[in-house]
Amino acid sequence: MTSPTGTPVNLPPQNCPPQMLGRCARCFAPCHRYGWGGNPLCQDHQREAAALQKPKHLVG
Ligand SMILES: [Zn+2]
Repeated sequence: MTSPTGTPVNLPPQNCPPQMLGRCARCFAPCHRYGWGGNPLCQDHQREAAALQKPKHLVG
């Protein structure tokens, strides 16, 4: 049995085990929501959320 190491990876839904799949909290698209690297947002919305969290003076 291997234990996860390093940075959690959010998988594309087509590469995600079914038990870790869920729906994006914003667009309800299938996404890697649960388990190691899981996120309640799809990868598109994770990028959007990360962009919104950047300090304004670092954007653009
Ligand atoms: Zn989404």
